[in-house]
Amino acid sequence: MMRQLFSAPRIFTARAGEQETLVDSAVLVDAEGRIEAIGKTLDLRQKGLSETQLDGVLLPGLLDVHTHLCLSASMDPFGDALAEHPARMTLRAVAALSAHIDAGVTTIRDVGGLHGIDLEMQHLVDDDSVEGPAVFAAGKLIAMTGGHACMLGFEVDGEDAVRAAARQNLKDGARLLKIIATGGVLTKGVRPGAQQLSEHEMRAAVEEAQKVGKTVAAHAQGADGIDAALRAGVNTIEHGFWLSDYALERLCESGRALVPTLAAIRCMERLGEALPESIQEKLKTVATPHEDSIRRAHARGCCVATGTDAGTPGNPHGNIGVELAALHELGFSPEECWRAATANGAKALSLKDRGELCVGKRADLIAISDENFDGVLESFRPHFVMRGGRRLR
Ligand SMILES: [Zn+2]
Repeated sequence: MMRQLFSAPRIFTARAGEQETLVDSAVLVDAEGRIEAIGKTLDLRQKGLSETQLDGVLLPGLLDVHTHLCLSASMDPFGDALAEHPARMTLRAVAALSAHIDAGVTTIRDVGGLHGIDLEMQHLVDDDSVEGPAVFAAGKLIAMTGGHACMLGFEVDGEDAVRAAARQNLKDGARLLKIIATGGVLTKGVRPGAQQLSEHEMRAAVEEAQKVGKTVAAHAQGADGIDAALRAGVNTIEHGFWLSDYALERLCESGRALVPTLAAIRCMERLGEALPESIQEKLKTVATPHEDSIRRAHARGCCVATGTDAGTPGNPHGNIGVELAALHELGFSPEECWRAATANGAKALSLKDRGELCVGKRADLIAISDENFDGVLESFRPHFVMRGGRRLR
């Protein structure tokens, strides 16, 4: 790779404070695909250095921190997942990775896969066998017997069994763990508001992850399960339909991320009566409390990160615009939306090497139009995407 300069009329660095928006500036990318310098274009121009002048706004590559590469986004993604041949699932996962790049997403977290496909995608992207965003995968999710999505993952009871499942995932190469703290919308017969894994069981998973420097994401919708997950020490709360004051306080004081996955609900609502009745019923009960919870989290300044839950009904990969537009509708300013998809996404994954534009970070860069940046349009498409110093779009 050659050293290259990328200039733009406006740069959004996602760094809090005065340095967040720069004008007539440029990013100098070194031969290793890292940011060597950032500042006024005129100051960074050098003889013999190639310069690409980009339109619109240059910002960090986006992070979608809640995806499922193995799910089909059909009316019945869980049923498909159980019936589908792993070869077909793999092909879909490869296409999904490409869709993320089209949308400007340069890092994803996969929070529940099958057949080790999500885990292998981590390496296939790392060694350039497949084009896609960097993948951080949880392997098989960990649920209680009869719990939400238990048919897709480890179905376990008791601390020892949770520990064994966690250790197996970590042995298989998971870069984080995913546990099921409450019921969910897509699983027939479970209530989203009800707690599932106990606090002790969740703590066992957290301990196993911490021993090897990994994190834990908790599917957590009802208040009891969310509170217990936070006490158990999980790193991120996924969905957060009913956030108690206790949960908001713990989230805010600890800086742990909330991943609302509003896109999942929006996309299911759009399917309307085409969905199974049991899902339609649950959607009616969760939509309003969910939005209220996210508004309260926003008002208190919690760290909110973008995750689409791609792979759920009507919610294909590359859908991060739906999540951004939904946050904007709930009162997040454009800057807050883009921060949720950059700096906060990196915080959710505990990654210090991306999510902001400053010296030493990976050169994960995208460029979008001013109209898309300021309006946070659902249908935005970047006109430039670079991952680790390599231009992909
Ligand atoms: Zn999910």
